[in-house]
Amino acid sequence: MSPSSEKTGSHQPETMGSASQPRIHAGRIVFPFCAIVGQEQLKESLLLNAINPATGGVLIRGEKGTAKSTAVRALADLLPEIEVVLGCPFSCKPDRPEETCDFCSSSSRQLNMM
Ligand SMILES: [Zn+2]
Repeated sequence: MSPSSEKTGSHQPETMGSASQPRIHAGRIVFPFCAIVGQEQLKESLLLNAINPATGGVLIRGEKGTAKSTAVRALADLLPEIEVVLGCPFSCKPDRPEETCDFCSSSSRQLNMM
């Protein structure tokens, strides 16, 4: 089994064609980003934001069943894993205490008091 399949928690063995097959990640079925048909503007926006987060984010809206969540989950599955502070709602980086949110600041204050 390859290291990437261990990270994903997939119960199916990796095969050559697995990139276009839905798989399970964190108990949820993740549809491959490259297999989403249509929604070109949505896919391009998500990719551009992943390449350069300075774009400021993407606001997605649309009718139910138009692959909004599917596209976001599929993109998230493509991105590398990052280290974040456990429980932080903003995914603060643990190695940058000077850039933390109020939650992380108060948590570290509590830890320093112990
Ligand atoms: Zn934080």
